[in-house]
Order: sequence, then C-alpha cells, then structure tokens
Amino acid sequence: MSIEKILKYQEVDMKLFKLENELKTSEPAKKMIFYQNATKQSYETLTRLNEIAETAMENIKKNMSALAEIDKQIEEIATGDLPDCDEKQLDYFAKQLEKLEQQADDLEREMSRINKELSETNSKYKKEYEQAGKSSKSYRAYTEEFNNLKKEKSVEAGEIMRELKDLEKDINTLLLDKYKKVKANKKRPVFVPFIKPCSCGGCGMEIASDIIDKLSEGLKIQDCPNCGRIIYNKD
Ligand SMILES: [Zn+2]
Repeated sequence: MSIEKILKYQEVDMKLFKLENELKTSEPAKKMIFYQNATKQSYETLTRLNEIAETAMENIKKNMSALAEIDKQIEEIATGDLPDCDEKQLDYFAKQLEKLEQQADDLEREMSRINKELSETNSKYKKEYEQAGKSSKSYRAYTEEFNNLKKEKSVEAGEIMRELKDLEKDINTLLLDKYKKVKANKKRPVFVPFIKPCSCGGCGMEIASDIIDKLSEGLKIQDCPNCGRIIYNKD
C-alpha cells in the first residue's frame, strides 16, 4: 500500500475546493452578504427610530395633559369671584397667574421642541425606509445571481464528485477515512509534504524528532500535532 492513490484523490478533491472557494468569494456572493447585512441594519435603525417617535409622542401627550391642567387652574383663578379681596390677596393671585402662565409657556416651548424632533425622526424614518427597500431589492437580485452561479458550478462539481467516487474504490478505507476526517475540520489540503529538516508543509510548525523518526516507517505519514493535517514523507 502506498499513498500515491490518496494523493491523486486529493488532487481531484482540491479542484472541488477551488470551485467552492470561487463561489464563496464571487462578486454575487459578496454583494449578497453585503446587502443582507445592509437590510438588517436598516431594519434595526427603523425599529430604533420607531421607538424614539413613540417616546416623543408619549411626551407630547404628557405635556398636553399638564398644559390642560394649568389652563384649568388659570381659568379658575381668572373667572373666580374675588369678593372682599384685599390688595395682598389680589397680588397673590396675580403672582399665581403669572407663575402658571410661565409654566404654560415652558410646556409649549418643550412641545414645540419635541414636535421638531418628531418631524426630524419621521423624515429620517422615511429615508431609512427607502434605503431598506433598495437594499432588500439588491439582496434579492444578488441572491438570484448567486444561485444561478451555484447552479452553473454544480455541474462541474458533480463531475468532480463522480470522479472522486470512482477513485475512492481503489483507496484504502483507513486512509480515506483519515482524509475525510481532516477535511471535515476544514483543513485542505489534507496531505502535506514533510519539509526538511523538520517542518509541517501545511502549517510550517517545527515537528518533534520522534515524529520525524516515524516518518520513515510504514506509509511514511504522521499527523501534525499543530494543524492536524497529515504529513507525508516522499523519501
Ligand atoms: Zn501542521
């Protein structure tokens, strides 16, 4: 038994890896993810603006009832009978009125400020809503483009997979299982050459001398303790 066949298998499998990478890093894939995030962000902003608007509306409501209360008090004082009031009492009422009117003015100013804020929030909401629509539309368009590209590549991928299945028949099961296990950990290539005098051809890490010794025995393969790939010794 030699590792020649599994190395050939790896060569074909790397074509599949390349294909997957091409798809993953393609423009439609990148744009699809970009617009997906943009849409999500827009919706988050819309939710936040909605909350701001709701708080502003609540504050307006509170201020309006406070203002109504003050108006009621002003009216009571203004229309109340003032029998036998001496000058001191009249002065007191006048001061009370003045104080209430001041409070009413303050409340009106505050409401006008909130109204302005609310109208700004509304226009921001409108803009963001439009943006969300555009992003979502782009997301759908790029998703379609991505799916078309995927379909295109899947024809080629299917051919490679058939070739791999064919090659598998002649490969030692233990070696193949080992290969698939490392591949499942997203390490490719799985088999990497031993780099003299003492490094893993995958991660470049220095290997201990007992492992190097074992690289001369049997199939001349050893697991890299660092990256988990399988180091092979061609000599
Ligand atoms: Zn390594």
